[in-house]
Amino acid sequence: MSVESLINIIQRHNPEAATDFDFLKTCYSYAENAHRKQLRKSGEPYFMHCVRTAEILAQLRLDMDTICAGLMHDVLEDTGITRLELEKQFGKSIAHLVEGVTKIGRYKFSGGQRQRQAETYRKLLLATAEDLRVILIKLADRLHNMGTLDHLSDEQQLRIAKETLEIYAPIAHRLGIWSIMSRLEDLALKYILPDTYREIADLLNEKLEERQAYCKKMEAIIHTELKKHGIPANVRGRTKHIYSIYQKMYEKGTPFKDICDLVGLRVLVDDDWSCYSALGVLHLRWNYLPDRVRDWIGQPKKNGYQSLHTTILDDGKPIEIQIRSRGMHQVAENGIAAHWSYKEGVPTTKEALSIYANYKEMLDDIQDTQDVPDRFIESMKLELFQDEVYVFTPKGDIHALPVGSTAIDFAYRIHTEIGHTCYGAEVNNVLTPIREPLQNGDRIRILTHPKSTPSRSWLRIVKTANARTKIRNWFKEKDRVDALELGKKLLKAELQVSYLNANDYLKSPKLLEIAKQLGHASVEELCIRIGNAHESATQIVNRLKPEKTEVIPKKQKPKDVEPTIHLDNGIDLGMFRVMKCCNPIPGDDIVGYLTRGRGVSIHRNGCVRLLDEPERFVVVNMHAVEGTNYPAQIFVECDDKPGMLGEITTAIARCQVNIREGNFKSSTVTRINDTAADYFTLDVTGVEQLKKVMDAIKSINGVESVVRKM
Ligand code: MN
Repeated sequence: MSVESLINIIQRHNPEAATDFDFLKTCYSYAENAHRKQLRKSGEPYFMHCVRTAEILAQLRLDMDTICAGLMHDVLEDTGITRLELEKQFGKSIAHLVEGVTKIGRYKFSGGQRQRQAETYRKLLLATAEDLRVILIKLADRLHNMGTLDHLSDEQQLRIAKETLEIYAPIAHRLGIWSIMSRLEDLALKYILPDTYREIADLLNEKLEERQAYCKKMEAIIHTELKKHGIPANVRGRTKHIYSIYQKMYEKGTPFKDICDLVGLRVLVDDDWSCYSALGVLHLRWNYLPDRVRDWIGQPKKNGYQSLHTTILDDGKPIEIQIRSRGMHQVAENGIAAHWSYKEGVPTTKEALSIYANYKEMLDDIQDTQDVPDRFIESMKLELFQDEVYVFTPKGDIHALPVGSTAIDFAYRIHTEIGHTCYGAEVNNVLTPIREPLQNGDRIRILTHPKSTPSRSWLRIVKTANARTKIRNWFKEKDRVDALELGKKLLKAELQVSYLNANDYLKSPKLLEIAKQLGHASVEELCIRIGNAHESATQIVNRLKPEKTEVIPKKQKPKDVEPTIHLDNGIDLGMFRVMKCCNPIPGDDIVGYLTRGRGVSIHRNGCVRLLDEPERFVVVNMHAVEGTNYPAQIFVECDDKPGMLGEITTAIARCQVNIREGNFKSSTVTRINDTAADYFTLDVTGVEQLKKVMDAIKSINGVESVVRKM
């Protein structure tokens, strides 16, 4: 095994290849050295695998960069070499190719998965390989690995073979690389269904000699016939590959003896015209089956395949014949790879451009750059499937999501409950905000907590309709539960105000009767209506009251009534909101306002934001919680002279009150004659303490006024 044998292969397949192979030699020794100490499972040096991969690429007649990248395709994965070192020594292009192959190697397709997942996986591979040559190297790598599977465990063999059949062979097929596709399929079948593979191979062997002899005879006859008409041609027998026979037998149910194209012949001629001339010669000399004639030259297949097919009858025996030029043959065997220019590393021929057009459905975003070779490869980059990202669960299951999707979308895709309780995500083992858009290939672990719940802001972030609907439904249900709870509380409070026993009345048949009279199916429904302020608790209680009750306490002055709802810090925050507009603190004259569907908001009596709808007012009482401070804003007007601010802050400090925020403006700013205006936000325990501080400030010489902001 030496670099010379590799050079030999390159020259044999590509007579016009460069004569200077120094660069190749450098790459060769570099990779050989990098893998020096490694052995494969078979016991042979690891580097052998790299050389074989490069050989396959050379047989495809690919450019020097691709072959060199093939030699080095495993150095990033298996040795200590970094991408940067590779780039420094061999340039960006090669480093890029090797890195691409390494990345693809990280995705593992666990077998036995559904067809849809396999398709998603193929898309992922195509989408993440920015340069088609990455895929070609990966295919060569896989082909050699498939040939050396024997040394792995049964389980690994099966997994890799399935991955090959479901992912890599179809990719080779779409790229038109028949020579690799057929070998991948046969090797995969050998490991997935060893008995079936054997059976077909034996059937093929049974009459092998007979078939070969017949082939030889026909080759000679056709060759002579064409020569007689001035058409130089190369006529060869060909056999179907085992997997395609397997498909006919087991998927289409054709018995082996009825597969008529077991033997076929291929006629290679010099140019396109000769194909049609040759067809004419055959059709004049033999009977043929008219409905089996195909012209793939006039109308090439999507993957670029061109040929004429006909089935002639020799003594009533059908033989399929394919006629094509040598150029077409290259394409038929090597697909897209047939169009690479060895020198420039890009497809340049006219056929390449037409193939390129045929790849439209795979290659998104075609720019009008086809006459410029290096821009051309630029657009050969597989920017397809741009509207989706492909991400993984920790187990390796793949999911396609719209671009811009977040971990929240992913969580809901996995399971509704996981979505509802997710609070964080690990993306590629790094803790990441759940709002961040996901990238191709991300592996995501969703962190959940049973007490965690969705946030309304998620509705603006998520990209999938699925997540959005589920979040909406969750809030719908939550609002219902909240309204129910609130309605019950309000009803209870109202009953207490009327000196009625809440527990007795809530379960009384009379309440149900009232609910039904008002058109609600149950007391629960009625409570929800009260919670949403669609029914008035006061009116319900009035209807509930026994006629004879005479003592009805007046309700005008809520303060005289026993506190019915305790608004303690941290309690019921979901249902009670202390409003920022007036910042009520313990001791303030406050009013609860029953909003439509958003609980009770607490205002100071007289707040301008408080709507004048007394029927919606509810009795609330705010208790100071020991050790808690509440923000209160005051406004101080004073003389604009040095030391003023110091005196004020000292006075505040003496009352043991903390200044949370301050904003000071001198007369030059306020434009009021020699008057400064200072705002403070103070942390106080309640109204009592606030009053003390304000009095202390008022007593300072030079202070004109101290008022609390409404
Ligand atoms: Mn490899």
